[in-house]
Amino acid sequence: MDFTIPEELETLRRTVRRFVDEELRPLEQGIDEAEHVEPAVLRALRRKSADIGLYAHNLPVECGGGGLSMLGTVVVGEELGRTSMPLNLGVGGFLPEMLTLARPDQRPWFLDPLVSGEKVIAYAMTEPDAGSDLGGLKTRALREGNAWVLNGAKQFVSLVDHAEFIVVLAVTDPAASLKGRFTCFIVDRENPGFRFLRNIKKMGWRGSHFCAFALDDCRVGDEAVLGEVGGGFAAIMGTVNRTRIQAGACWVGMAEELQQQAVAHAKQRRTFGQLLGEHQAIQFMLADNDVEIEAARLLVYRAADAVDRGQADARIGASRVKYYCAEMVNRVADRVLQIFGAAGYSRELTIERMYRDARAYRIGEGSSEMQKIQIARHLLGGRS
Ligand SMILES: Cc1cc2nc3c(=O)[nH]c(=O)nc-3n(C[C@H](O)[C@H](O)[C@H](O)COP(=O)(O)OP(=O)(O)OC[C@H]3O[C@@H](n4cnc5c(N)ncnc54)[C@H](O)[C@@H]3O)c2cc1C
Repeated sequence: MDFTIPEELETLRRTVRRFVDEELRPLEQGIDEAEHVEPAVLRALRRKSADIGLYAHNLPVECGGGGLSMLGTVVVGEELGRTSMPLNLGVGGFLPEMLTLARPDQRPWFLDPLVSGEKVIAYAMTEPDAGSDLGGLKTRALREGNAWVLNGAKQFVSLVDHAEFIVVLAVTDPAASLKGRFTCFIVDRENPGFRFLRNIKKMGWRGSHFCAFALDDCRVGDEAVLGEVGGGFAAIMGTVNRTRIQAGACWVGMAEELQQQAVAHAKQRRTFGQLLGEHQAIQFMLADNDVEIEAARLLVYRAADAVDRGQADARIGASRVKYYCAEMVNRVADRVLQIFGAAGYSRELTIERMYRDARAYRIGEGSSEMQKIQIARHLLGGRS
């Protein structure tokens, strides 16, 4: 089996790496300290990202995107994973696949400004009473004449503070199974029924807030339906099955970045008259990191290849990636912090930030437990 990445993707990798090193690296720590990034800074970064073909790289050409294969997308992800999550999100690392559902009449006001980076989108599933269990979603959309009226509350939703549009998953047919129960609605944040509640302070990803908001008799027309009425579950799953692979690639990149720092440190720090790297306990940690990073990378490439080939089990590949890579990067961050000792725990290096950032990966986009449930159902032949 040939795992060689084609030369044009290696060229793209070098372009993204340069962009990360020159444009994003210098901003990382300041954003983390301030827990804030100016909208104007993000706007400028989105423009630069679009100029090098990075913004919307994962969306098809027909939508105005870069048309990259899934393999290309994971190569980009490995490089973007080296920077912090607020910047990764800010430069369009994760434009959701569900945008491909936009109809021609939704292009001028919705899709085109999102793909160009002029406007920003958030997507909102999670609610106070429902996170992993979408069956518990309560946000309702009722038909009234020619309009839909949305009521409910969402929380822990990224990017809402910057977004012009929020795609909201709402129940349209409570009697239906999950597959037919939900619809995705595009809510303009200027809609009088949209009420921003608050930014929720959190452990990592500082500078990218997750937010809570409410919808109070929020009226939208049919033009705001993204995809089919009743097609919300399929739209969300289509998106997460790709973002789980993209995210796994980012965590491989992040783990690689941490490992490089650990190797460099082990080659220059001395304890008990020896280099750290000469102590077997440290060597074992580096070796464990190395094997786990390589195993994760192969899972990512294999899953990306399955998507590009349209293989039926690509969804399970995405769950394997999401589960293993999220756990792997947390183990790597923990070992690397240990190798650095107090310096790793200090806020003068990037390691403690990466350690904090990594912790979220075991929870968001379907927690590790949810991925294991998916994989087990696949093995045992139960419902999925
Ligand atoms: C940084 C970050 C960004 C996020 N951004 C977004 C966003 O943009 N949009 C959005 O909609 N949401 C977002 N979320 C929310 C995320 O999708 C949810 O946190 C996730 O779906 C889990 O839901 P929950 O937090 O309500 O946990 P719960 O569903 O309450 O679960 C709590 C714990 O119990 C475990 N658990 C639950 N059920 C079972 C079971 N049957 N068996 C075993 N274990 C179980 C879970 O794995 C978890 O560990 C974000 C979360 C984070 C951390």
